[in-house]
Amino acid sequence: MVELNIRRQDGDRIWSENFTVEDRPGMTVLEALFHVQERIDGSLCFRYSCRGAVCGSCAMLINKVPRLACRTQVSEVKDESTDEPKDGVASVKPSGKVEGRNEILVEPLPNLNVIRDLIVDMDHFYELVDSIKPWINKDEGEPEKETLMEPAMQVQLEKYTNCILCATCHGACPAASRNGEYLGPAALAKAWRFYLDPRSKEEDRNELLKYLNSDSGVWGCDVVYKCVAVCPKKVTPTQGILDLRGKME
Ligand code: SF4
Repeated sequence: MVELNIRRQDGDRIWSENFTVEDRPGMTVLEALFHVQERIDGSLCFRYSCRGAVCGSCAMLINKVPRLACRTQVSEVKDESTDEPKDGVASVKPSGKVEGRNEILVEPLPNLNVIRDLIVDMDHFYELVDSIKPWINKDEGEPEKETLMEPAMQVQLEKYTNCILCATCHGACPAASRNGEYLGPAALAKAWRFYLDPRSKEEDRNELLKYLNSDSGVWGCDVVYKCVAVCPKKVTPTQGILDLRGKME
């Protein structure tokens, strides 16, 4: 058996609740949450969609580390201690979790407002990403020929196009926790992706650098690589931020 210690919230009321679930081989934290919702307490709220680490909807804090619930195995985390930083993520607070007690702490993703239980409001995160204008401005009319891309550039871009906008990195980011205006790792990684893209125009690149050249942009990053440590798609926002800084110096 495994205990899920879930942080609940309904309006101003915040509380913790323990649920006991039978731990089956291969069970994910998302499946354990389904068990609670379907068989113990139908009022438990959480967000999910694809169940396969594609949509990014089920990002939450599991044992104080931001992760996707659908790709986190119960067996991997039930004995985990929250006293030690995981993968460089040291957002550990006193938890009351007893090591070896088969308990998993489940909380909403930090740095975003909670709507209810484990569901956070993603609007602010999407607004930050939108603010960097993540698209290619094309000239009027049809292009005369296709834009070819070197395979090496494609490999470089793919490191950033793999982002599923799950906000796991945003939840791990200490700069986002201090400054709600900070664009955050996902938006800045996307900015680097569009800066790199050979189809982007020079004037758009320059405008982008101007927008990012502030303490809420690339200079707000603490360069502690927490975003890189937690990203389920192996995107490297910190490297993108450092490369953007390099274009400004
Ligand atoms: Fe999620 Fe990684 Fe994209 Fe951040 S960079 S939103 S952690 S996929």
